[in-house]
Amino acid sequence: MSIALSVVHLPPVSSPFSARSTPPRPINDGRRSSRDEFIRSLPTEGSLRLPDARRAAVMPALFLGQLHRELAHDLDDASRHLIYKFGYEWALQEMILLSRTVQEEFGAGGNLDLWQMDAKFVLDRWWTVLAQAGWGRVSFDFSSLSRGFAFAELRDSSVVAALSGPVRHTEPLCHLYAGLFAGAISFYERSERHGVEIQCTALGAPVCRFAIGPGSQIDEVEMWRKQGTAPDEIRRRLT
Ligand SMILES: [Zn+2]
Repeated sequence: MSIALSVVHLPPVSSPFSARSTPPRPINDGRRSSRDEFIRSLPTEGSLRLPDARRAAVMPALFLGQLHRELAHDLDDASRHLIYKFGYEWALQEMILLSRTVQEEFGAGGNLDLWQMDAKFVLDRWWTVLAQAGWGRVSFDFSSLSRGFAFAELRDSSVVAALSGPVRHTEPLCHLYAGLFAGAISFYERSERHGVEIQCTALGAPVCRFAIGPGSQIDEVEMWRKQGTAPDEIRRRLT
């Protein structure tokens, strides 16, 4: 039996070791932080659990930054793709779990598969857990889904936070998120979708923005972005 792991992001206020060694405390002792309530440490079984009993792995900001710096030292195409695929596969696993949960909740009435539900309802629900896990706030726009495209805006990117510093970035950084959004929407659409970041806060933008759609057109989007096409103009061309 495979064990699904959800990945929790810890901002750099404490080490993963403190989270791992925190003994369980009663829920209403008045001292629990929202993170403690979200991640339960079970030292006897050597695991961390989310409120729905799923096992969790913790990815502290330190590790997230190091992963990008070491694995993607120059952020060449191969390392970008690896990080993107990590996000993509992670999202697929999360969506399989969500699909089961939704079927259990609505299982008695038929017409219940995830892809028969409203896209925004499904994706918002998926992201709620990731937002609680520290991965930032996301708003989805599915108004062009009939044409095969979706858009996402991300605030508080953990990747940008982890890589903040004196280095001046010249390319968007959030390939992990592009993979996450592409994986989740591929699952929902039952058709492979690709994702690309068209605007990143690492380059001074107020929010990170992503386009998700069929591979050939997303390749074109990436080309437009590299040519300097503004995000709003990219979006206009896709809708
Ligand atoms: Zn970004």
